[in-house]
Amino acid sequence: MYKIKREVLGAIIEASKNTYPHEFFGVLGGSPGEKIVDELIVVPATYGRNFTLIKSHLIPFDSKMIGTVHSHPSYSSRPSKQDIATFGKMGSIHLIIAYPFNSESFNAFDSKGIKTAIELI
Ligand SMILES: [Zn+2]
Repeated sequence: MYKIKREVLGAIIEASKNTYPHEFFGVLGGSPGEKIVDELIVVPATYGRNFTLIKSHLIPFDSKMIGTVHSHPSYSSRPSKQDIATFGKMGSIHLIIAYPFNSESFNAFDSKGIKTAIELI
């Protein structure tokens, strides 16, 4: 099971609130061997109300990047078809945080979009 550091979730919550009503997108950093998310990497992206265009050619891809996070300005943290397509390309752990952006309004998914457990540490 993946774990996420409380301070990383705090940074995600803050970024999601700051970007609202647009979507926030970031990359999760950590050590894949230990399955611990210990860093939020903010990447160049164009934020829209219901979409995020990731400028993936500007992302310095390295082995520290283990997944993604994005916000939904709605109450639903269900991944869209496009979300799942992105998940498949960008690591193995993916978070969606829904409005109102707190430690209860997010869910974690694997690269196929299947809901997965994540522990706050
Ligand atoms: Zn989404």
